[in-house]
Amino acid sequence: MSTKQLLVRFAKPYPGLILLTIVLGFSGALFNGVSTALIVPVILKIVGQDVDLTKAPAILKKIMTPFDGVPDNYRIIVMAGAIILVIILKNLATYTSSLVSNSLTRMLMSDMREAGLKLLLEIDIDYYAKMKVGDLINRLGGEIGRSATAIGNTFKLAILGITILVFIGLLLSISWQLTLASTALLSLVTLINQYAIARAKKFGKQLTEMSKAYSISMLETLNGIRLVKSTGNEGTEYHRIQKLIREREKADFQSQANSEVIAPLSEVMGISALILIVFLSKTFFANQIASLSAVLLTYLLILLRLLPLISQLNGLRSSFASTSASVEAVTDFLRLDDKPFMPKGEIIYTQLKEGVHFNCISFAYPGHEKLVLRDVDLFLPRGTTLALVGGSGAGKSTVADLLPRFYDPIAGSINLDGTDLRKFDITSVRKRMGIVSQDTFLFNNSVKNNIAYGRPEATEDDIISAAKRANAYEFISKLPQGFETLIGDRGVMLSGGQRQRLAIARALLQNPEILILDEATSALDTVSERLVQEALDDLSRDRTTLVIAHRLSTVQKANQIAVLDQGRVVEVGTHEELLQKGGYYSRLYTMQFGDRPDDNAQQHQSLTRISHEIRTRLNSMIGVLGLLIDDLIDNSQEQQELIEESYKSALRIITTIDIFQDILKMQIQERFLSSTEANQNLNHRYQRFNLMFSEFRDCLNISLNNLRSLSETAIYTPEEQHQLITNAYNSAIELIDKLEKFEDKI
Ligand code: ADP
Repeated sequence: MSTKQLLVRFAKPYPGLILLTIVLGFSGALFNGVSTALIVPVILKIVGQDVDLTKAPAILKKIMTPFDGVPDNYRIIVMAGAIILVIILKNLATYTSSLVSNSLTRMLMSDMREAGLKLLLEIDIDYYAKMKVGDLINRLGGEIGRSATAIGNTFKLAILGITILVFIGLLLSISWQLTLASTALLSLVTLINQYAIARAKKFGKQLTEMSKAYSISMLETLNGIRLVKSTGNEGTEYHRIQKLIREREKADFQSQANSEVIAPLSEVMGISALILIVFLSKTFFANQIASLSAVLLTYLLILLRLLPLISQLNGLRSSFASTSASVEAVTDFLRLDDKPFMPKGEIIYTQLKEGVHFNCISFAYPGHEKLVLRDVDLFLPRGTTLALVGGSGAGKSTVADLLPRFYDPIAGSINLDGTDLRKFDITSVRKRMGIVSQDTFLFNNSVKNNIAYGRPEATEDDIISAAKRANAYEFISKLPQGFETLIGDRGVMLSGGQRQRLAIARALLQNPEILILDEATSALDTVSERLVQEALDDLSRDRTTLVIAHRLSTVQKANQIAVLDQGRVVEVGTHEELLQKGGYYSRLYTMQFGDRPDDNAQQHQSLTRISHEIRTRLNSMIGVLGLLIDDLIDNSQEQQELIEESYKSALRIITTIDIFQDILKMQIQERFLSSTEANQNLNHRYQRFNLMFSEFRDCLNISLNNLRSLSETAIYTPEEQHQLITNAYNSAIELIDKLEKFEDKI
């Protein structure tokens, strides 16, 4: 059903190609039938056995009549030539037909991928909150590939169906009685065979289940070995798993015994059926004894050529069954009517004159009842800064997401110079907006292209000047290939502060009229923070800026501060006004920006945080690698995805370590300026930690190198793959041990 939907939607533009495929397929089937029917009489003629076809079935006589007019001397040569010619024509037709149908399939695949890509780029951002990226990639890649194969198979099915019909037609016209009898016999053989195959599948499945149960039990017992020992349960565990081992062996034997019997069984049954057919033919062709050998051999030849076609048909049927889930998923994925798309406005946005008005907006996330914003009414005059402050979950990011229309408010409106945002062509508005957020996204591309992303036509000088203003020029020029250095997964790794400054350079180059800032707080060292701060100040100067403020300096400098609490604006004013008021803001201010904990406590806190982060990522990486080592993942695509995932986790851990080493280095330098005894002690501590981080890095590099080899090349044997995964796993375990020691010392 779904295949039909896809076929109707995507094959429509290619009626000519579809017709050509079918016509060619049909011609191939006809030539195939004719050549098969010609072979036996012609061979008998060539070897000198003159066959008397006067009483043979009409179809055979008809096929031979064109040769009657040929002089006796040449007849054999003409016949042989005719067979070869017909076979050439048949192969030419099937070859071109499969070529055309394959290119049609490939075109459909590209069309479906492009439709999927378009959909993903145009769909509302909310869709991504609910979908896993891995799942989407899988749909765009593997699932669409399988669906296109399913569509290609429908063409194959049509052609195969025609060919089978031609062959059956031939058989019936030679002898309908014999055809009836052979159908009955061969169906019996097929039924018995199918029974054996179904049993083999059942045993195979059982065996996989049992292997899985065994591995999971082993893993569980070994993971919980402390509990097993401390409760004296070694014996129970032994017997439990021993039972699984025995059951698995038994299932393995059954499965093998059953599989081995299929081939001999079908051979014996097939030959018996054939002999029976020969016996029966003597009865059916009793009046055609003169031509019996020719007719019977032709009949059997056609029958034998038909049988593989029928198994091909069965193969196609089971391939339909195995791709049906993919087709279903793709049909679902490519549907437009059940997905969120933002209605588009018409007005082309040019310039902001007065300001942005959040006009009494309320908002709930799609599919959620709870209002996360209630009657928010704020005015942001052109060229000024509005800072949003408030506790976590107060709704600050949500306000910031409504401005570029990632979502629409459910009540109220956002107005640009009095015109509802929804009336504007959203692309023209977004092009004039810049967003710098905490989780800076950089493409796996050169530094230069990353900066120029929002303005690809920018000149080299523009890019350099933006980098300078963003305080990024210095570190970029120290990179191996300067502005041409690749960043991201396969290139140089940047620290959090450096990534942010690139994002700021990108925004500066884009020169947006309206700026949305989500300031970063964590994971930035003091120098980085200062550089980022300076760059941000430069970026937001005289620009209409909405900022989610985490820094005291931003809050103080903002023209207006709006305090959000549970989705409501509770106070608006300048820093001084709000402090004087002594309300929510002044309490928040003291809590957030008041007395700082001392250095040691702060350092302890950040070390714990970093260690926690590394541990969480490592644990998930170890879990995934464990699954791979135990061969619990059957699907090779899934396996590759998990390897990629572990590789990325390892990369993220390295980045975390980088950032932290940077912070330590800075603190050491600052401390050296005043060498009191206390500072000396602190320095020793720092140095020790630094050493430990270097050890972490060494361990992780082993994991990373093994995983990188696995994710970049697919030429390893399963044993080599297993070894690489085990190496990565072992060094991750070693790192966990080291981390434990580190945590003891914090
Ligand atoms: P803040 O930026 O002030 O920390 P947010 O705007 O991120 O707060 O979140 C406000 C509320 O909206 C929170 O209760 C949060 O759980 C909820 N929320 C955020 N994003 C989503 C989402 N995509 N779907 C559903 N609820 C969300």
